[in-house]
Amino acid sequence: MAGARVCVFAGSQLGANPAFEAAARQLGQELAHRRIGVVYGGASVGLMAAVADAALAAGGEVVGVIPRGVLRSEVGHPDLTDLRVVGSMHERKALMADLADGFIALPGGLGTFEELLEQMTWNKLGIHAKPVVALDLDGFYEPLFALLERAQREAFLITDLTELVTRAVSVESAIQRLELSAGFPTSAPKASDSR
Ligand code: AMP
Repeated sequence: MAGARVCVFAGSQLGANPAFEAAARQLGQELAHRRIGVVYGGASVGLMAAVADAALAAGGEVVGVIPRGVLRSEVGHPDLTDLRVVGSMHERKALMADLADGFIALPGGLGTFEELLEQMTWNKLGIHAKPVVALDLDGFYEPLFALLERAQREAFLITDLTELVTRAVSVESAIQRLELSAGFPTSAPKASDSR
């Protein structure tokens, strides 16, 4: 069986709140300690790189997936276990989703929101049944959950929200939510895993 991998979505900026960077580092470190591989956007900037750097420093496996255009602007991370170069943002998101067994979204901007909502949508449509966790640090995702609940009240979103996304308020609980999800692998990534 292939080892577990988690795809982390996070800002390409560090953001203004130092607690978010600390949480990004903690997430990378905790995933590495649990021998859970990290899949992410492959950049060497922002919160996303903080996760990757911390996982690598703790001896973890980190796979980056980056579009050629972004690589050319020299933000491709040079030290990853594996850097997959793809043709477009759409290919990036598809490959990241394919490589991962679950998703954690840290705070971020438009790219992070899009990635988080896309995976919730794919879950709803049955394209996959992989768990999605929003790491709601300092209430960052509160307005998004308020909007989703509004969409439910307005009968636009008829699926039970808890089936699409889990809200976690700490790094530990975010990882635990994934580990407790049905179908989430428990073994460490293996060299023979050719995903
Ligand atoms: P944002 O939240 O808008 O900063 O976008 C970050 C997310 O979108 C990450 O999870 C990436 O997968 C993707 N992304 C957006 N902009 C970049 C960038 N300049 N370099 C790498 N990834 C990016």
